[in-house]
Amino acid sequence: MALELVAVALPVPLRRQFDYLVPPGWAERLQAGVRVELPFGRRRCIGLVLAPPRLSPDDGHDYKAVARVLDEAPLAPADWLKLLQWAADYYQHPIGEVVAAALPAALREGRPAQARQARCLSLTVAGRQALLDLPARSSRLRGLLAALDHEAGLRIEVGADTGLDAASLRRALAAGWVLEQAPSAPVVAASELPPVLTAAQSRALGELLAAPPGFSASLLEGATGSGKTELYLRLAEQALTRGRQVLVLAPEIGLTPQLAGRFQARFGAVVASYHSGMSEAERNDTWLAVRDGRVRVLVGTRSAVFAPFSALGLVIVDEEHDASYKQQEGFRYQARDLALVRAREAGVPAVLGSATPSLEALAQVRAGRYRQVLLPERISGSPPPQPQLIDLRLYPPRHGLSEPLLARIDLHLQAGGQALLFINRRGYAPTLLCEVCHWLAPCPRCDARMTVHRTQGRLICHHCGHQQAPPRECPSCGSTRLLPLGEGTERVEDALRNRFPGRRVERFDAERLRGGDRLARLLDEVRARRVEILVGTQMLAKGHDFPALSLVGVINADQALYSADFRALERLGQLLTQVAGRAGRAAESPLPAEVLIQTREPAHPQLLALLREGYDRLAERLLVERAEAGLPPSGYLVLLRAEAAQMAMAQAFLRSARELAQTSPALGEVQLLGPAPAPMERRDGRYRAQLLLSASRRGPLHRLLRSWLPQVEALPDARRLRWSLDVDPVDLF
Ligand code: ADP
Ligand code: ZN
Ligand code: ZN
Repeated sequence: MALELVAVALPVPLRRQFDYLVPPGWAERLQAGVRVELPFGRRRCIGLVLAPPRLSPDDGHDYKAVARVLDEAPLAPADWLKLLQWAADYYQHPIGEVVAAALPAALREGRPAQARQARCLSLTVAGRQALLDLPARSSRLRGLLAALDHEAGLRIEVGADTGLDAASLRRALAAGWVLEQAPSAPVVAASELPPVLTAAQSRALGELLAAPPGFSASLLEGATGSGKTELYLRLAEQALTRGRQVLVLAPEIGLTPQLAGRFQARFGAVVASYHSGMSEAERNDTWLAVRDGRVRVLVGTRSAVFAPFSALGLVIVDEEHDASYKQQEGFRYQARDLALVRAREAGVPAVLGSATPSLEALAQVRAGRYRQVLLPERISGSPPPQPQLIDLRLYPPRHGLSEPLLARIDLHLQAGGQALLFINRRGYAPTLLCEVCHWLAPCPRCDARMTVHRTQGRLICHHCGHQQAPPRECPSCGSTRLLPLGEGTERVEDALRNRFPGRRVERFDAERLRGGDRLARLLDEVRARRVEILVGTQMLAKGHDFPALSLVGVINADQALYSADFRALERLGQLLTQVAGRAGRAAESPLPAEVLIQTREPAHPQLLALLREGYDRLAERLLVERAEAGLPPSGYLVLLRAEAAQMAMAQAFLRSARELAQTSPALGEVQLLGPAPAPMERRDGRYRAQLLLSASRRGPLHRLLRSWLPQVEALPDARRLRWSLDVDPVDLF
């Protein structure tokens, strides 16, 4: 006898779908994309139907039955589910976890797929009387009336999570105790008139619009401040007039308010943002509003790429080169790449913008797959300043700051400018040193040093989060001569406060800006010129627009010059160009903008090439080097990582995995490297090792993965240690 089965994705880390029995008469309701409740082991689980039910011969397996259907219609349009399936296959990640990453928590937990309805209600005189008269057992009704008594014209949400139920509200409305007003007009209205485009912008817009109909990918290459965002707005406007939706990706949560703000000023309330700083309820509402078409422009970070657009018309990826587009744990997807897949599937244009395109994007341009659109001039007319080097061997720094740098800061402040100091390390100092025996404070759980944090008075490991009080004496020799070694943001901030008393110095790093909208508020202060000196990490290098900023100082560029990471120089080139681009963006800047880079390696050939010839030429050189080494974008990489209590265990697992690959008929041209210990062997108390797979073409590599990974998953060791697969890894550790 045949069984009727339905394939479901469950939020479990297994690379497979699960089959369940379809109860008689349920087949029609079990459409692909509908959520179901299911028995799984001893638990109940929420799953997502992947395909309509099918008949299958009875194989004697004891299938369980679907317990409940949660949705009357699929959660999202069909191409949404297709994207998830494509991603699960490409990244070889369990489909259930991919689905989980694409859904807001409330939907994962099985809440109704309906946006909360805020209703504008007020209590009538009769209602106030009823509140006094109602018996105590009518607690829900009383709760509702009491809430409204608190605040007239309250906008309240009715639903299970608010404790206010729809039945009580219906009764109160019928009895005339409560009055409902029409919901008020949208909160944000479009207010901004578009500026007249510059000649360069008009030409670039023309080129962007000249893309053939259907899917296309364009790389909009323009210096910071060249007016790219204005072009995004023009393209979005066109998509909106055609009744389509727009996806705009930004690399970081800190950049979304600024970008969303510009779209909102132009288009009003149809613009929403989506990022991890929002409450789960807000994310859920926004997700549903995108699906239902109430949101037309979504500006968000990585996970916004999974929003359920029903009429996508345009995809924009701002700061395309940014490494933050890659999810670094769990489901390790690259949002920029998925955005392109989405555009291709939807048959709509994708525009990638950057002042410093990734080598991947440049390679696509060369291969003729992306169109290149250049926007060479800045709106202000002034070209980005030419960076100058300060040789730290001639001018030894104190607390990271050399005299020539301090003198220039002073000059710019006197003239009414602002200065930005960039340093790649947060905390006070990268480690604590014993001056007598040269002991350096180690993390007990990692092969790494503890960072000194002065404001918290702690030593903190940036790799595992381990914290401890700084020792009073050296654990190794007992000396009390312990000194912070090197510098981080806190130390530079302190030194600048001491040197420039009365000037307002602000620090921008993860510690200082934790929580809420602190970053947005501080950025407003900077634009209002209330902050005179900015000290910060990466987050200051990107995207921001500071009209009065005239001096940029880079505390130290050298780390990248010695790095073993094959992307280090590309990153350094991007970072220095981006950070330099913060200076002199507008005519308001009082002095000609300057960029100063402190280094102990003023003759380093790649650094000089970057400064003399600019990022584009550096990128060209690096593309040649990558091609010679067979590294991305001239090759494709996959990393199998393992972590265990002992190194031997991690290595043994990877060796077994390697043997499986080596004997696989699908091995083909794929090369295997390792297993080898990870660059940081021990992290958070666990030993780490990795096996690298590489190939010059994507196809063979992915063919191997499809047959090999299920075998790896079936290895007995696979259940005894932590392992993960990283397709197109960004960091090789
Ligand atoms: P990018 O995105 O390339 O960094 P923006 O679009 O943010 O550049 O433009 C830089 C600045 O110039 C912004 O303050 C923006 O409002 C302004 N701007 C852009 N285009 C024009 C224009 N055509 N006329 C006047 N100002 C413009
Ligand atoms: Zn010592
Ligand atoms: Zn640690």
